[in-house]
Parts: sequence; C-alpha cells; structure tokens
Amino acid sequence: MDTNIDNKEKSDIPYVYPPNARSAEYRALLETIKTTNECPFCVFPKYHKGEVLPELSGEHWVVGTNHPSYQGSRAHLILITRRHIQKIEELSDEEWSSLHNTFVKTINTFKLNGATLIFRSGHPKHTGGTIGHLHCQIVSGDPENPDYPESGIVSRIG
Ligand SMILES: [Zn+2]
Repeated sequence: MDTNIDNKEKSDIPYVYPPNARSAEYRALLETIKTTNECPFCVFPKYHKGEVLPELSGEHWVVGTNHPSYQGSRAHLILITRRHIQKIEELSDEEWSSLHNTFVKTINTFKLNGATLIFRSGHPKHTGGTIGHLHCQIVSGDPENPDYPESGIVSRIG
C-alpha cells in the first residue's frame, strides 16, 4: 500500500503511540506493533479487530468499522488513507474529493440523519489518537439506544 519511503524516514511522527491507548489490552497490542516497526494502517487490516467495508472503500480511502465502537453509536467507522501520510496538509485534491464521496456514501449506506467527522492529523500526542497515519472517524450517535451515555458520546480529541 505504501510507496512513500522518504516521507516515513523524515517524519518524527511515530507509527503507534501507546500512551494514548484507552485500554490495557489495546496498549499491549500497540507495544507489540511498535516492535515490528511497521505502520499498522499501511498493513491494514492486519491488526484490525473491526470489519473492513469494501463497498465503502475506494482508491484513496479504506473504510472499516471502528473497534471498539463508541457506546451508544449507531455507526462508528474509521477511514484511512491508502498512502502513508500523516497530516491533512498532505492530502491531494483527489483524496479530499474522494473523502467527500466516501462520507456521502457512508451516510446513505447507513441511512444516517447526522454524523460527526473527526480527523487524527499529525502527532498522536496532540490528537489524542494512537496511530500516526492520517485517518478519520465517522460517528453517529443513537440517543434511542439504551446504551447511549447520559453525557452523549464523548471522544478524546487532544
Ligand atoms: Zn502508514
């Protein structure tokens, strides 16, 4: 999937960032991945426990269900750039356009009446994320779900 070796070598953004893991199990997985020196999203879905959704994936973005999905969400998806880039600034016009199309296709497929798009761009230390490969999440809450938290769905974003 990745052909941009120079970009990886110049970057100080790690492939994985275990300190932001939300569970001991996930942190242990990230520590394991760290020893392989491979970007988990360049080898996606090798370490992914959710589903891959080929009907929503395309030339520029691969789409899967996030794992674990946020409690009380109707949909919680992860969208990963096919190439190893780390920041929004690196997205090409084609990738932006493709993201728009993927978002619309996702909304239509899941019949969502509203959703939030969250980007993880740059060093995970500053995004609250755990992977240093540009990705975003689509989250749609379901207040009718008995598991929907009183606070609404809350995400770490920094
Ligand atoms: Zn990568």
